[in-house]
Amino acid sequence: MPKIHVLEKHVAELIAAGEVVERPASVAKELVENTVDAGATAVTVEIKHGGIPFLRVTDNGCGMVRKDVPLAFLRHATSKVQGKEDLAGIHTLGFRGEALASIAAVSHVELLTRTANDLAGTRYLISGGDEEGCEDAGCAQGTTFVVRDLFYNTPARMKFLKKDVTEGNAVSGVVDHEALAHPEIAFRFLRDGKETLHTPGDNKLKNAIFAVYSREFTQGLLPVRYELNGVKVWGYISKPVASRPNRSMQNFFFNGRYVRSRTAMVAMEEAFKGSLMVGRFPACVLHIQLAFSAVDVNVHPSKMEIRFMNERPVFEAVYHGVKTALQKEDTPSILKLQP
Ligand code: ADP
Ligand code: MG
Repeated sequence: MPKIHVLEKHVAELIAAGEVVERPASVAKELVENTVDAGATAVTVEIKHGGIPFLRVTDNGCGMVRKDVPLAFLRHATSKVQGKEDLAGIHTLGFRGEALASIAAVSHVELLTRTANDLAGTRYLISGGDEEGCEDAGCAQGTTFVVRDLFYNTPARMKFLKKDVTEGNAVSGVVDHEALAHPEIAFRFLRDGKETLHTPGDNKLKNAIFAVYSREFTQGLLPVRYELNGVKVWGYISKPVASRPNRSMQNFFFNGRYVRSRTAMVAMEEAFKGSLMVGRFPACVLHIQLAFSAVDVNVHPSKMEIRFMNERPVFEAVYHGVKTALQKEDTPSILKLQP
């Protein structure tokens, strides 16, 4: 019989980190979500070589006070959830308190942060989960995370990474989604020194879409604005003539969170039925807002899936919202001109 023993803390940390940090894109997602929760209005994401040796996220959000900095890197340490009642209505993107612990377990992290009330900022270093320094630093209000040499201590995970280009594209996709989720924030993305995305942050979804996709795509969009049974749906869908060969440009955001939702996808495609040829798919950037208590976001550590207390109102709001937008488009312009 093999003997049972409790895993050494460092080993347990590496295992837990594996659930949250799969690749550079997961690091980018967690760090950007934190900037949103911190109330930032401008966020810059920079990567070198796909984000593996270097990934930096800078925000102008609330920053952290010195005594909170080491705590932020402890597992299950969060400023966003107090008690179990809070889990029933999560309104922040983060809530698990394990992203920073996970990232720091598998990389070298340098953090610079300052709140509006502090004169001096803090520079904090942590590598493989071990604190390596904490000192005064001059810096702007907000927070900068630099993550270097991701998976330097987990060669097994490192082996599964794809080519730099592929990993870089995945990071780019994460920033695109966050930019579409938060048109009120100005996002910049720099890849090997070259700026590939810059959204205005003027709270106009169409301008964010224009920055993320092409002018041509933006021109082929129909607005959606609908509310049914407490579920609000707004955003844009592609005109049937501007359909796509796959679903890669279907974006659904629930309460500001990018998620893969089969319910929303099926509802939208059902509304498009009869308007599209077989093998063609609609594109969309649709925001769906419903009571925080009506969704469970605590399904998986990656927070990419959610569960609804009741699927039906979500399905119906998306279906009728899209259908109404398509019908408006169908109305001949002669009718539209009549008073
Ligand atoms: P969670 O987001 O689930 O709370 P994280 O591990 O991602 O857990 O972050 C831990 C804590 O660190 C957060 O609750 C927050 O208080 C603080 N924090 C992280 N990133 C930032 C940031 N960019 N600006 C201000 N505070 C931050
Ligand atoms: Mg977080």
